Amino acid sequence: MMAARIDHAVSSGTFTLDGETFEVDNNIWVVGDDEECVVIDAPHDVADILAVVGSRKVKAILCTHAHDDHVRVAPALREKVVAPIMLHPDDQPLWELTHPDYLWDVDLADGFEITAGGTVLRALHTPGHAPGAVCFYAPELGCVFTGDTLFNGGPGATGRSFSDADQIKESIRERLFALPDETVVHTGHGDDTTIGAERAGLDGQDG
Ligand SMILES: [Zn+2]
Repeated sequence: MMAARIDHAVSSGTFTLDGETFEVDNNIWVVGDDEECVVIDAPHDVADILAVVGSRKVKAILCTHAHDDHVRVAPALREKVVAPIMLHPDDQPLWELTHPDYLWDVDLADGFEITAGGTVLRALHTPGHAPGAVCFYAPELGCVFTGDTLFNGGPGATGRSFSDADQIKESIRERLFALPDETVVHTGHGDDTTIGAERAGLDGQDG
């Protein structure tokens, strides 16, 4: 059996919330084998995503949260690859800011599992950066896809609407720090890190 693998690209565009717009680079993560895959987040450009997917069947478009820089082209990608968009329903208010005329297809719940190329991804509901923020843990690959919940260097931003600073720290401590230290963290923006490195950082910050 072919082993599942992770493919990656970076896509550039903008993030807008609370009336401010920023230039951002978003990571695109694709997990699967030569036959099938899932796409984690659909940022700025469908072509950037399709370049990573290639000719593979897309089983699902998994959204870490509904900030516009993570879901802007999700409906357009869905049209191209005919796959369901999956989002935690607590992010409905953010989704509607970007896509008032579209719905997603499948509600993600904590513990939801999907396989791609024979490997499991498990949804961990980690509210804080957004109310419906979800991380995807791939135990057989030894990694977790954290969106904007945990970055190389600490928790994601919580200064804007629908965010909660105490909640994101609780989510990280209770859900992500329950994973093994060697777990590789693939983030929504910027470089990888590990659970162990971020555990040391957050504990150093505020005991
Ligand atoms: Zn975000």
